[in-house]
Amino acid sequence: MANVFAIVNQKGGVGKTTTAINLATYIAMEGQRVLLFDLDPQGNATSGLGIDRSQVELSTYDVLIEGRSIGDCQVATQVEGLSLVPATLDLAGAELQLMSMLSRETLLRHALEAVRGIFDVVLIDAPPSLGLLTLNALVAVDALLIPMQTEYYALEGVSQLLRTVELVKRQLNPSLEIGRVLLTMHDERTRLARQVVEEIRNYFGESVSPFIVPRNIRLTEAPSHGLPIALYDPKSRGAIAYQSIAKEIIEYGKARTR
Ligand code: ADP
Ligand code: MG
Repeated sequence: MANVFAIVNQKGGVGKTTTAINLATYIAMEGQRVLLFDLDPQGNATSGLGIDRSQVELSTYDVLIEGRSIGDCQVATQVEGLSLVPATLDLAGAELQLMSMLSRETLLRHALEAVRGIFDVVLIDAPPSLGLLTLNALVAVDALLIPMQTEYYALEGVSQLLRTVELVKRQLNPSLEIGRVLLTMHDERTRLARQVVEEIRNYFGESVSPFIVPRNIRLTEAPSHGLPIALYDPKSRGAIAYQSIAKEIIEYGKARTR
């Protein structure tokens, strides 16, 4: 049975999509069958994997709103063992359309049930909000991966996210876990960044991954070439960090399902 994770943080620009693309790639390179689900209308995970959004026929929109199966909508990527459900701009309208739909919070959960036996790991790249798309992710997954940029306002908004998680646990998905908090875009030269790491560790304790993703220009360049860092610059510091986190997430998943 697949381990299903959502990469969430309602703040934009904290490294969700970078984390989604690169963890998905490295987990696949470890021999796991991986599905990446692009749940953000901006579709950065889709384009970052080199898929031309204007050529996409079926997408996340079709899964959520039209009731199409994931099997129909997934596409192969250049990474062996990694499939993607791409996102296109019409997903931007889905939030509003979902409002009037029956069982609007559980659509993604039901869609994923059919593929839990096919993949080892499913990753969902969530949009930067706590709207119905993100709610669908919280209801569908086993655990959350929460990227946090180690900057001054890192913990801002976290209590709101955790309150939402508690509500979802109580009413819709009792087994939801905070899987790992991932520290990203870290600049270890600044004292402030080191202080923020301490603060986040005090707040989340054992959930914080020991592997910190450094601020690394190669990670920014890779998506403009449509490549994950593993194919763009596997020796870069960003690549090495994501490879380590991928192994940690595989172990975490194994421990969960044991
Ligand atoms: P989100 O999905 O949370 O909005 P992104 O992953 O798109 O965040 O990252 C925001 C921006 O920061 C992007 O331009 C991305 O290339 C860049 N970025 C992400 N992680 C790093 C990093 N570790 N070092 C340098 N730049 C990064
Ligand atoms: Mg994103």
